[in-house]
Amino acid sequence: MQNLLDSPAYSEAVMQFDRASEGLIIEEGLRDRFRFPQRALAVSCPVRMDNGELKVFSGYRVQHNHTLGPCKGGVRYHPEVDLGEVAALAMNMTWKAALAGLPFGGAKGGVTVEPSSLSQAEKERLTRRYTAEILPVIGPNKDIPAPDMGTNPQIISWMMDTYSMTQGYTVPSIVTGKPTILGGSAGREEATGYGVAYVTRDSIKKYLQYRDGVSVAIQGFGNVGSYTALKLKEIGIKVIAVSDVKGGVFNPNGLEIEEILEAVKETGTVTEWNGGEKITNEELLTLECDVLIPAALGRVITNRNASELKCQMVVEGANSPITAEGDDILREMGITVIPDLLANAGGLIVSYFEWVQGLQEYFWPSDTVFAELKKKMESTFEKVVDFSEKEEISLRLAALKLGIEQVAEARKLRGLYP
Ligand code: NAD
Repeated sequence: MQNLLDSPAYSEAVMQFDRASEGLIIEEGLRDRFRFPQRALAVSCPVRMDNGELKVFSGYRVQHNHTLGPCKGGVRYHPEVDLGEVAALAMNMTWKAALAGLPFGGAKGGVTVEPSSLSQAEKERLTRRYTAEILPVIGPNKDIPAPDMGTNPQIISWMMDTYSMTQGYTVPSIVTGKPTILGGSAGREEATGYGVAYVTRDSIKKYLQYRDGVSVAIQGFGNVGSYTALKLKEIGIKVIAVSDVKGGVFNPNGLEIEEILEAVKETGTVTEWNGGEKITNEELLTLECDVLIPAALGRVITNRNASELKCQMVVEGANSPITAEGDDILREMGITVIPDLLANAGGLIVSYFEWVQGLQEYFWPSDTVFAELKKKMESTFEKVVDFSEKEEISLRLAALKLGIEQVAEARKLRGLYP
């Protein structure tokens, strides 16, 4: 596993772990255990393309740690997916679940593919083959996949069907993020974005001196970005810019989010909305605004552009959107960072609700889901803020320390096998 450290994403996750676990009472050997995943599976998935050609795609499923319960984590379809990135994301899931007090370990999966280059039929064949290849390590009490970048409820439904066919009966709890008709939870689709919006509102109240007229720019208008924008607008917080892979739109007076959603439905991109000025993704990141929410790729705020940011706060909607060097620069500039472990935990929290509802076969109405989500997001926010103030450390360090401490404590109680 040592060669995982060749990956910039993975070595950064380990560096963050090392920084955060400093001062915590953890046996040195256990520290080594936490530095690497418990299990990492690399698979190749042959797929018959529509034109008759056979193409092979690389896929991964990494389980970082399952001390607290079954592993949980999304599946990403993106051309830059590699083992290091997936392993880094899996490690973060371990700390995120522990921080939110959920009985899960951390996992992540992915396939190296540009999903928009596949037809629907090719996507289905790839998903079914990927699921079949990772079958030995997943299960409703073992490891439960969910959507992430490039995947959606349809892909999750195919995963559930493939797993169920191999078992000979329907197993809805093998995945979360499925449509409600297949046993999904009300509110799962909105959960991550709504959670980001709740945390953004609380952080504005806590860390910015004013509230009226606060402006927000969001990079990414997929699942996380679009629901964050919708909820912020509903709360009364002005969203002045959004973007997707093709570029962005900006209007200092605020955007009509519902209209942009319509434009995306019709044309596939926010850039076709005519109510604002066109901007690039780089311009969006350095736009003058109060709060910047990166909600697309990881590692977009780096030592190259961090010093050009003109916001007062960054809320991490995406996973790991700021590199360690970028983070140091933002701290020196006095920009508050609300870390991903806290900001985007809403999806994981409602995934937990979905898993619980599935196991009990008793389903909650959406207002119960959203009320419980809000409660959990607010209590986790308070926990992280209090700890960061008490220890005089950044919110990121506080969130990581709290998560790591939980897992280390549980590991100590369980002891070592054999
Ligand atoms: P998605 O696939 O639904 O949307 C991704 C968005 O990012 C799209 O608008 C896409 O056009 C845009 N994008 C892609 N490449 C880009 C680029 N190079 N520059 C700018 N924009 C680009 O994905 P999602 O589920 O919204 O996930 C977004 C981020 O949030 C990821 O980092 C993911 O790990 C994280 N996240 C997602 C969830 C979830 O429940 N979906 C939960 C926690 C964290």
